[in-house]
Amino acid sequence: MRIDVFTLFPETMIPYLESSILGKAQEAGLLHVLLHNIRDYTSDRHHTTDDEPYGGGGGMVMKPEPIFSAVESVLGEGINTIPLILLTPQGRVFDQKKAVDLSRYEHLAFLCGRYEGIDERVREFLVTEEISMGDYVLTGGELPVLVVIDALARQIPGVLGDADAAAKDSHAMGLLEHPHYTRPAEFRGWQVPEVLLSGNHARVETWRRQEALRRTYFRRPDLLEKLSLNATDLIFLQQLREVEKQLSDPRESES
Ligand code: SAM
Repeated sequence: MRIDVFTLFPETMIPYLESSILGKAQEAGLLHVLLHNIRDYTSDRHHTTDDEPYGGGGGMVMKPEPIFSAVESVLGEGINTIPLILLTPQGRVFDQKKAVDLSRYEHLAFLCGRYEGIDERVREFLVTEEISMGDYVLTGGELPVLVVIDALARQIPGVLGDADAAAKDSHAMGLLEHPHYTRPAEFRGWQVPEVLLSGNHARVETWRRQEALRRTYFRRPDLLEKLSLNATDLIFLQQLREVEKQLSDPRESES
């Protein structure tokens, strides 16, 4: 997959893109991220990329000309087909489903805003989609783009060493993932659950499924509402509800 990123601060993204799994994915040719400095596409002597907002008020706004120029020269004919995604707190909030959808493209482009944001004509006539990281405001779109690239890269076949790892992650199946433990089996007196040391694969799988359900039930019950669960899962959830009810009502636990 090829990804073009348009930014005023490419240097902030390089270390992350070159490290660990993303670095290896690029070395293996599975992912090709190209960073383009919007400043390189200015035509004035001072390489101006921002200006004061019309109507007054504080802050600066990213000018349209260098952004159009950068995107048009890099994407060329592809401008009509390659999604150009703007990172903005005003976009649709990013989630796992979006990461999976984006991972299916052969070519994507991202635009990072800075300052007060970009001239509205860029959003209206160049950008094809807007993604937000959540209901808070960051300094620039670079961190959000890294988050999106990281999340979608995990979905590209071959990027993760364990082919099933992404499918088992939290949110992949609609549930939060079960807890993980590694050696030592005892640390400061805290034991790893016995079932994980049993070598009984079926018991381990049952435990993992139940712990995933338990975590999701207590931390993100909203996720459970969107799932179609099997009978065993539903019985386990019912048991959880009964235990919870007893704990919250001391009279019931006494009876
Ligand atoms: N004035 C803008 C507003 O209120 O919508 C916020 C501008 S913000 C300081 C600068 C840039 O950071 C934005 O153009 C966007 O690219 C990026 N950014 C900030 N918060 C973000 C978020 N929650 N999700 C995605 N991008 C964000």
